[in-house]
Amino acid sequence: MVLLSRNSGAADSTSPKLPYVSTRPTMPNRQAIALISEHGDPAAEIGKEEAGGQNVYVRQVGEALAKLGWQVDMFTRKVRVDDATIVQHSPHCRTIRLIAGPQEFVPRDQLFEHMPAFVEAFQKYQAQYNYPLIHTNYWMSAWVGLEVKKTHNVQLIHTYHSLGAIKYQAVQNCPAIGHTRLQVEQQILEQANCIVATSPQEQESLRSLVSHLGHIEVIPCGTDIETFQAIPKMAARSHLGFQPHDQIVLYVGRFDQRKGIETLVRACGQLKENANLKLVIVGGSDPTQSDGQERLRIEAIVEELGLSKQTIFAGRVGHDRLPLYYTAADVCVIPSHYEPFGLVAIEAMACGTPVVASAVGGLKFSIIPEETGLLVPPQDVEAFAKAIERVLRNDLWARKLRRQASERVQRNFSWSGVAAQLSDLYRRALAQSIAHEMLVMVGQSSYASRTSALPTSALPTSALPTSALPALTKVS
Ligand code: UDP
Repeated sequence: MVLLSRNSGAADSTSPKLPYVSTRPTMPNRQAIALISEHGDPAAEIGKEEAGGQNVYVRQVGEALAKLGWQVDMFTRKVRVDDATIVQHSPHCRTIRLIAGPQEFVPRDQLFEHMPAFVEAFQKYQAQYNYPLIHTNYWMSAWVGLEVKKTHNVQLIHTYHSLGAIKYQAVQNCPAIGHTRLQVEQQILEQANCIVATSPQEQESLRSLVSHLGHIEVIPCGTDIETFQAIPKMAARSHLGFQPHDQIVLYVGRFDQRKGIETLVRACGQLKENANLKLVIVGGSDPTQSDGQERLRIEAIVEELGLSKQTIFAGRVGHDRLPLYYTAADVCVIPSHYEPFGLVAIEAMACGTPVVASAVGGLKFSIIPEETGLLVPPQDVEAFAKAIERVLRNDLWARKLRRQASERVQRNFSWSGVAAQLSDLYRRALAQSIAHEMLVMVGQSSYASRTSALPTSALPTSALPTSALPALTKVS
């Protein structure tokens, strides 16, 4: 295997124009890359506070990329002394937990002060594996990536997962950490090699709210279509103890005020004359954390509206059993105030369940109104009630929605398809980096400095010897 080295004084235009053998200690035939997700532990229990879509995204993308031929190291912060430092998910994919701050849960808005320690701990792995590409997730990881880029020639790819510019729109006084977040979110857009927006709507928000500079590519989130698939509805119901005549309205997700569970409960309050109505709320919570407080608040509203008998709090449900809930439901509701993507939407659709959701962010991309579900204005109780009722009342139409929903996910949102697109992006980014180094090596530094600013799609691939990419040719 011959790879061009990045650490060999290549900037000196008088250096011999020969390829070198890589000094990167990668696994045989595998290029090692790093995914960073400082608070979203890919090996964590999903569905509890601060463990949601980002954890699922990083874990699934990591595992799917490993299947495509990469060595994937996923870095997160260690939050429990008893947690393993390294969790091996598959032969070429692992989670590495770094010590950065106390080994206990720290709320996201207090986490930034521990990021210098995270960088320091990460640098030890960087020194050992010399990752040429780092894919960061969420703004604090972006800061980590930008710090590493100051001292290493790495290709930096970033996924936002959530955008401060949108979050703080609705907040009167932006907290101190908010200003830092907004700055980092702008820097990463302008300085990363590529931003992965998970929907065209997110891309638009980045352009209009953050910066017109920087390169963005749209690659959606995905779902595991082998796990999330339609199973016979009545079998799922009997498994979960529901009746055939129940009309089941399902919520799946974290207890967080921004998830809008209150809107859903109030909408069901308007439909409670329907004696068959059942509201099923799936999601974990911890009485000592803020999600526990939000659950208590929601329980109080359920009580106040006289919905207690019709409402079931199912607690956290793993992905092994979630397909039963999605399939048993007549409609899955996503009442979020904002949602950059919303994995629950495509999980439900993959199981053939129509979705009624807020017309916000990535939900406007994944759901096709009247074809796979309905979109309504966020926080509009009346509109949610009407949309839910439409799906519950019209069985023939609902069947059509079910079929179209599952077809849409299979066509567009499988993790393997998403990982193939990311893999292609990584290859282009690495090839661009190698091409850039080669041009510097041969002394064409003025051309090189121009090409480094080009989007990766402008990569001059013809300038690359194929021998420069052997590890990557393994990647399909
Ligand atoms: N989830 C889960 N069990 C639960 C609740 C949620 O596995 O009890 C998962 C859900 O299946 C989805 C993720 O948590 O994969 C939530 O992702 P989404 O993008 O919808 O929301 P986020 O948590 O990122 O705001």
